[in-house]
Amino acid sequence: MTNAPAAHFTTTVRDTDPLIADALEAERSRQQNQIELIASENIISRAVLDAMGHEIANKTLEGYPGNRFHGGGQFVDIAEQAAIDRAKELFKCGYANVQPHSGTQANLAVFFLLLKPGEKVLSLDLAAGGHLSHGMKANLSGRWFEAHNYGVNPQNEVIDFDEMERIADVVRPRLLIAGGSAYPRELDFERMSKIAKKVGAYFLVDMAHIAGLVAGGVHPSPFPHADIVTCTTTKTLRGPRGGLILTNNEEWYKKLQAAVFPGVQGSLHSNVLAAKAICLGEALRDDFKIYARQVVANAKALAETLADRGVRIVSGGTDTHIVLLDLSSKGLLGKQAEDLLARANITSNKNPIPGDSPRPPEWVGMRLGSSAATTRGLKEQEFRVLGTVIADLIDAETQDKTDEIFESAKAKIAELTSRFPVYGH
Ligand SMILES: *Cc1c(COP(=O)(O)O)cnc(C)c1O
Repeated sequence: MTNAPAAHFTTTVRDTDPLIADALEAERSRQQNQIELIASENIISRAVLDAMGHEIANKTLEGYPGNRFHGGGQFVDIAEQAAIDRAKELFKCGYANVQPHSGTQANLAVFFLLLKPGEKVLSLDLAAGGHLSHGMKANLSGRWFEAHNYGVNPQNEVIDFDEMERIADVVRPRLLIAGGSAYPRELDFERMSKIAKKVGAYFLVDMAHIAGLVAGGVHPSPFPHADIVTCTTTKTLRGPRGGLILTNNEEWYKKLQAAVFPGVQGSLHSNVLAAKAICLGEALRDDFKIYARQVVANAKALAETLADRGVRIVSGGTDTHIVLLDLSSKGLLGKQAEDLLARANITSNKNPIPGDSPRPPEWVGMRLGSSAATTRGLKEQEFRVLGTVIADLIDAETQDKTDEIFESAKAKIAELTSRFPVYGH
C-alpha cells in the first residue's frame, strides 16, 4: 500500500482494509439471508444507495440553497432544492427543512424553536410506544424540559383521547406531541389539535414511523391539523438515515431554518440530501401508493395469522406496518422470542408493551414490522407463512421434535429469501 494519490483514489476497501471489507461483505449476506421484521427498518433503492456513496459526500456546505457560507455548492443546491420541493409536494405543506441529520435532531430543532428550557411537553408514554426524543429522562428533551405523558386505555390499548384531554387540562403543556415508535394504530390528529388549541399548546406530529404510510395515502395526513411535523426519511419512507421538518407556518419558517442551522447542527450531509431528494421522488410515484397499501395489508395478514395461533396482539390488531406482540400470552419474554426468531434468520426486536416493566430484560413485548420485507416483494401469502413460522418457533420449546421445528423454520425462511433477493443477489 502507498500514500500516492493514485492509490488513494483507486484502492478498494477489500485491498486497503480487510477487517472492514469482511464486515461489509458479511452484512450484505446477512441482509440477503434473513427476513427483516424490525419495524424501523427498510431496504433503500439502488438509486438512494448510489447517492449515499457518491463523491458529493465530499462537499462541505453550511446555510441554505442560494445562501451558503462556502463556494462550489451549485450542485448540492440542486439536490437540496429538489428535496425541499418534493417534500412539500408529497406532504402538501408550505415549508420544508430537509437538513436534520436524524429524527432525533429534527425534534431537538423543534424544541429549540418553540420552547424555553423548563417548559412542559406532553407526549406518549415510552411503554405505550413513545420515543426517547419526546422527553425521556436520559435524553436532552427530558433533562432540559418538563415532560409529562399520556398513555393508552388499559382495556383496548388504544390512545384514550378523553384521558389525554384531562391530562392536558391539568398539565397545560407548551407542546403536545403525537407519534411514537411502537404504536400500531391510526392517530386522530384532528382531535389532538383541538386538545392542543384548548390548552394553548403547539401541536407537533412526529410521523417518523408512518411518514411512508402518509405519503402513500394509507394513513391520514397530519396536515392541516399539526403546527409542525417531523419525521425520519429512514423508516416507511424508505430513504436514507435522516430527518425532515415540515410546517405551514410562514412566520416560523425563518426561525426554523436558524433552529436547524446553526441552532443544533453545523454543515449538512450533501450525499444524504441527494438521497433524500431521490427517496421523496420515489414516494411521489404511483407505485409507492401500491407499496404503502401492501405494507399495511401484509402487517394485517401477519397479525391475523399470529392471533389465530394464540399470540396476543397488543390493541387487537394493526392499522399500520407495526404488529406488537404480548409474549406473556405464550409464557415468554421479548428477548427469548427475539432469540428464537433469530435461529431461523428472522430479525426482530423485544419491545415494551403498555404496562410493561421499565427493565428491558423483563419486557414481554416484541415489535414486528412489515415495511422491509414488503420492499422485497413479499405479499399476504408470504406474510402468512412468516406468521406460521414465528408461531412455530415461539411454541417450539414446549413441543417434541424441537430440532425439527427449527430446521423446518430455517428452510422456509431460506426459501423466501432466495425467492425474494435484494440488490441482485
Ligand atoms: C425513529 C424515531 C425517531 C428518531 O429517529 P432517529 O433517526 O433514529 O434519530 C424519532 N421519533 C420517532 C417517533 C421515531 O420512531
